[in-house]
Amino acid sequence: MVKKRPGHVPERTCIGCGKKGKKSEFFRIVKTTDDEVVVAESIKVQGRSAYVCRDKNCVKLALKRISRALRKDFEKDELSKLALTIEEQLR
Ligand SMILES: [Zn+2]
Repeated sequence: MVKKRPGHVPERTCIGCGKKGKKSEFFRIVKTTDDEVVVAESIKVQGRSAYVCRDKNCVKLALKRISRALRKDFEKDELSKLALTIEEQLR
């Protein structure tokens, strides 16, 4: 295990607009070890993660790049399901 420097807050980058910020400012989209894609804030959900601003336009952009970011081939309905999940949380 690598020990983290005390007080160090890792920066995340939005895959939509490229803005950097704190983890709490973004949606976290995770590809789990079961190859499922979920939106999860919890660190307990582990896997390759992508971050997106809580912003409609960023989400739209991000969905076009999510496949590359998570290194996963999305089915069309899988992608629209994910889009819906995020949109619900935007409200
Ligand atoms: Zn963004």
